[in-house]
Amino acid sequence: MQLAFPPGLKPEPTGVPAGVSFLSNALHDTEFASFSLGCRFDSALSEAEQAALRKDVQAELVRGLEKALNKSFQPHGADVDCLLDFVCRRLELRLSPVYVCGRYNKFSRSLAQTTHYCFKCKGRGRGCAFCHGTGRLSEESVEELLAQVLVPAFGAARGVFHGAGREDVDVRMLGSGRPFVFELVEPRRRSANLEALATGINAGFPGKLRVSVLCFCGKESVSEYKNAEHEKRYAAVVTGSAPFDLSRLSPALGQRLSIEQRTPLRVSKRRPDKLRAKYTVLESVKPLDAASFELVLRASSGLYVKEFVSGDEGRSMPNLASLLGVPCTCTQLDVLEILDAPAPVI
Ligand SMILES: [Zn+2]
Repeated sequence: MQLAFPPGLKPEPTGVPAGVSFLSNALHDTEFASFSLGCRFDSALSEAEQAALRKDVQAELVRGLEKALNKSFQPHGADVDCLLDFVCRRLELRLSPVYVCGRYNKFSRSLAQTTHYCFKCKGRGRGCAFCHGTGRLSEESVEELLAQVLVPAFGAARGVFHGAGREDVDVRMLGSGRPFVFELVEPRRRSANLEALATGINAGFPGKLRVSVLCFCGKESVSEYKNAEHEKRYAAVVTGSAPFDLSRLSPALGQRLSIEQRTPLRVSKRRPDKLRAKYTVLESVKPLDAASFELVLRASSGLYVKEFVSGDEGRSMPNLASLLGVPCTCTQLDVLEILDAPAPVI
């Protein structure tokens, strides 16, 4: 955020007390432990003049602020970066993000993981005709439900959700949940009772969302979570027109099945067409009625389960339809558990 200088604030030693008071006021409702401070002086000044100002003004501002607010100066990785721009006469404050990680369960089949904004109007303003004035294309999302609670709790400008992988809108995320990091952008507060916030989230969205094991984490967790490869256990309801002969699956049960999977047709518009080597282990089958059964399977990270079931017009080989010898589709899917054992290298 930016704040205009008060009149009379000048880059000279006598201006230091006024500068400290301006900075103290600008930061009075911001929670932080460390700060950095830089100054931009007139570039027409010689290097020696600028060096003198850094010593007599910038260094004194740092000392004054440390004393006035009892905070520590930290040139890199501080909670707040202050830039006093004596050319444009404004103060720029950058509050470093706070990261909260945890696990979430999604119990609704109409809750997206993240919000998809309208690609025509980019969600700006009042939306457009394409998105019926909503600015968005997706249903309610885990991201925005978490933001409703976490963003005000940290006095943040907004929140960004980073999931360890994702599930489709119509897929529930059960078991002990999927790891995520929630990034709070420009937070005025850096501490909170995470247990109380989790309780609030869990009471606020029954039947939709539950979170657990919330804790503070560093920025590096975002890429760690995003790049982590987890095996997962799924429950799929498989439906077909012909009666199923489930005994055809018996030889495959408990066996590791290697699968060659091309990018599914349904996502081929936005993802490059690639052939991926994946695997699955069919764990159990349970008939539901003549036309459907429940299949529990373990799958390598990134296997498209719905396409493994249907075969996706031959783009997943082998597939469940080929094993059964009849066409079938996955009509309901749940992630039962994200397994933390690293996926074996294929
Ligand atoms: Zn739109």
